[in-house]
Amino acid sequence: MPEQLPGGGPSVAPDGSGLPGQPVAPAPAPVPPAAPAAPAAPATQPAVALRPGTRGKDVKALQRKLRVRGIKVPVDGKYGARTRAGVRILQRKLKMKATGIANAALLAKLGLKVRAVASDPATLTAARYLKVFPVVGEYSYEDDFGDPRGQGAHQGNDIIGTVGMQLVSCVDGTISRLTREETGLGGIWIWIVDGQGNEYYYAHMASISPELKAGSKVTAGQFVGTMGMTGDARGTIPHLHFEVRPNGGGSINPFAELRAVDPKRT
Ligand SMILES: [Zn+2]
Repeated sequence: MPEQLPGGGPSVAPDGSGLPGQPVAPAPAPVPPAAPAAPAAPATQPAVALRPGTRGKDVKALQRKLRVRGIKVPVDGKYGARTRAGVRILQRKLKMKATGIANAALLAKLGLKVRAVASDPATLTAARYLKVFPVVGEYSYEDDFGDPRGQGAHQGNDIIGTVGMQLVSCVDGTISRLTREETGLGGIWIWIVDGQGNEYYYAHMASISPELKAGSKVTAGQFVGTMGMTGDARGTIPHLHFEVRPNGGGSINPFAELRAVDPKRT
């Protein structure tokens, strides 16, 4: 289902990779200016920490590790009060300072390599569904699947940009349905179905490419319309609400898929 505006909760500042939604690592400490006889910088662990307010799959991985150790925290990818409390419990067990922040030392003990996971393209899973990222231009998105929204849990990811930004087909497929008249929460929207029956939903569009109609074939990367803020996104911020529904069933979290085909990922 479509949804309301993205955000609302604490959002995670970009980590410099240009990828919103990744855990924020504190900037490395500035290197002192080279001075004669300056001692060599000590070897330090990577400047990585997960902390309250961080969201995303790395937080989920941390939460799973806590649960494996019998510490009851939700596995929702959101570092809230319960996760902080759980981290404190673990830190006490490990005789570490109970800060509630999962710093590099703690992450290392748990076998979690956050920075590496976030920045190493080789660790990205290949896209199973998407061939092409659905938005062209300067966009941002985060893992906001399942976030509470007015109509319930968010069923897709919101890719934020500007009105008029080009949207392209993410697969080779067929336009199964569309509306150029604002209809329902999605406003102006299209559904694309690929050859395997998987469905892709684009909502809150400003316009749909004039030659498209229900039944039109599209190829991955083909222009299908423009980003807008129609439907219940009106008055919020321009974004594409994007869903992936394998075999036309329930939606899956498309975040990893988007990352896998994101030409701007770092
Ligand atoms: Zn949305």
